[in-house]
Amino acid sequence: MNIADYKDVYVFAEQRDGNIQSVALELLGKARQLADDLGEKVVAVLLGKGIAAKAQELIAAGADKVMVVENDILEHYMTEPYTQAITQIIKEQLPSIFLIGATTIGRDLGPRLSARNVTGLTADCTKLEIGEDRQLMMTRPAFGGNLMATILCKDHRPQMSTVRPGVMQKATPDASRKGEVVNYEVTFDMEKINRVKLVKVVKEDKVVADIAEAKVLISGGRGVQNKEGFDKLEALAKQLGGEVSSSRAMVDAGIMDHSRQVGQTGKTVRPALYMACGISGAIQHLAGMEESELIVAINKDKFAPIFNVADLGIVGDLHKIVPMLTEKLASMK
Ligand code: FAD
Repeated sequence: MNIADYKDVYVFAEQRDGNIQSVALELLGKARQLADDLGEKVVAVLLGKGIAAKAQELIAAGADKVMVVENDILEHYMTEPYTQAITQIIKEQLPSIFLIGATTIGRDLGPRLSARNVTGLTADCTKLEIGEDRQLMMTRPAFGGNLMATILCKDHRPQMSTVRPGVMQKATPDASRKGEVVNYEVTFDMEKINRVKLVKVVKEDKVVADIAEAKVLISGGRGVQNKEGFDKLEALAKQLGGEVSSSRAMVDAGIMDHSRQVGQTGKTVRPALYMACGISGAIQHLAGMEESELIVAINKDKFAPIFNVADLGIVGDLHKIVPMLTEKLASMK
């Protein structure tokens, strides 16, 4: 097959329990820009059981076409059936670009798909653009975040990339957008699928807030010191209707859960307000939060690098400033 035969920007529309995941809508926003630059279409690939009604949500978010594959074995994510279904779509439809969210599912699915379709995959991209020669330029941090590498996949198709939740921006949904919905028939190789059986789906019982979805994040670093320090951040977050997040230093210290870590090896966040308390501003931390709309930093070291990205900086002791802010906000209510 010739590279020129491949066209359109495809997005894996990840769903869980029938709910389209936010990252899929973010990828559709980016796919729309890429497809417009190429003069091509955006195609969403939606797999599951009883999910066809969700196609309109994908069209409203930017898709021109939705390929729906409905099957009992696609109800819950499993590597082999999902890989088989999407591989059939790739081989028959010849997409030029295929984008996947870097979720636990996407991180499992992406490498399988790229291997089976003999193409490359650039993981955890932070920027996607179309280059002069219509190639997809996939940029991601390299060497521990100290430089950004732009990777091209010149000789193989599709050009595949995973992107973490929160990195790209969703387009404003437009319910009046029209698109095509195709019910796609897939022939499964059951012998391979039957090698693995899904016995039970066990959900985590604690409800963990997703910091990537929070509008306000009060984030603590080593300067917060301990659990009691985080209680102060929690009280401020409560006043502002936000969540508490953390630098890796406090996750490594066992004080915060990894699900709340912001940064290169944690989550990428883009809240309306990110308040960095006792965080120095290491490059790996900035990689996860510098796109926040308003960054406020509290640090006792006026030379801390976090002040280089902060819109508002407060030099001082967070253990005094945070309770003062909480008290002030409470008194204003
Ligand atoms: P520190 O750098 O120790 O900074 C503490 C800050 O608190 C200092 O600036 C200090 O002045 C200030 N302070 C102390 N006491 C007070 C006080 N009472 N009031 C006000 N300020 C005070 N880090 C991440 O965060 N996320 C990641 O995803 C991540 N991934 C990484 C991946 C790799 C491959 C590597 C090599 C590193 C990664 N790191 C990550 C670690 C990163 O390099 C830093 O070590 C880490 O971010 C530092 O955390 P910190 O700012 O909390 O601590």
